[in-house]
Amino acid sequence: MSGVQHTIKRPARAVGIGLHSGEKVALTIRPAPEDMGIVFVRTDIRPRTWIPAKPDFVVDTRFATTIGSGKVTISTIEHLMAAFSGAGIDNAMVEIDGPEVPVMDGSAGPFMSLIKKAGLKSQRRCRTFLEVLERVSVSNQGSTLSIEPSSHFSINFEIDFDHPVISRQVFSQKVTPRTFTKRIAKARTFGFLKEIELMRKNGLARGGSLENAVVVGETSVLNAEGLRFSDEFVRHKVLDLIGDIYLLGRPVKGRLNAYKSGHRLHHLLVQELLKRRYAWRVVEEREDKWKVPSWGTIREKDIAAAVNLP
Ligand SMILES: [Zn+2]
Repeated sequence: MSGVQHTIKRPARAVGIGLHSGEKVALTIRPAPEDMGIVFVRTDIRPRTWIPAKPDFVVDTRFATTIGSGKVTISTIEHLMAAFSGAGIDNAMVEIDGPEVPVMDGSAGPFMSLIKKAGLKSQRRCRTFLEVLERVSVSNQGSTLSIEPSSHFSINFEIDFDHPVISRQVFSQKVTPRTFTKRIAKARTFGFLKEIELMRKNGLARGGSLENAVVVGETSVLNAEGLRFSDEFVRHKVLDLIGDIYLLGRPVKGRLNAYKSGHRLHHLLVQELLKRRYAWRVVEEREDKWKVPSWGTIREKDIAAAVNLP
């Protein structure tokens, strides 16, 4: 039997603030029909505009991934998209009453908990994969990103910061619901104290705080609780990449190799790959290996500070 598509069982709601806007936003995820994919809706704007999480709707990749249709935009979708990818959600409607997905604790952990509360629902149609047949690579100013054929979805990511707290970190992982939940979902976004001050002057990172980001000072991390993983920085970059690649609209069979990559390059690779029709094909999952992930590793207290569930 082939693997089938999944949506969520029931709506689930979370409230938080936007990392860059600092505005309070409520987010509701709802079940969606087969083959719809992930679609975002701004509920604070009339008429309601649907914005599919697809490459053609990406309008900005500075600091975060922003999608839009006309003048209506939603930014910082990548951590929620990573959670959908990691949890195996193919179809969902995301309602947001503001311009930015709430940052929660800066990771995908609270979104995984939200999906757990919503429950997974099997649908009838087959799940399809984008199978990579030939290597495609992109580069920009010393950063590179490539995807090559592989029997499963895996990522090798290297970062190299000229900063003593981060320096060089490499993370290599076959991505499954289990490895995503245990090793990637909880890695938080990060910023440098100096840059955060500058960003604030430019109206960015207004909602950023030690509650929702790892803040890197001159010689140490400023968060009292320290890091969740010794290599949390590169793990978060992997999380971002998983979220951005999921804009392809279906799971991928391929191996990503990233060196100092970011949202802009992630989007560029998606565009290049789609342009080269010979480099991929769409296949159905042949075996029903898709299991509901074990959620035990995400603790309620991890999200308590950031999430308000009704
Ligand atoms: Zn991120």
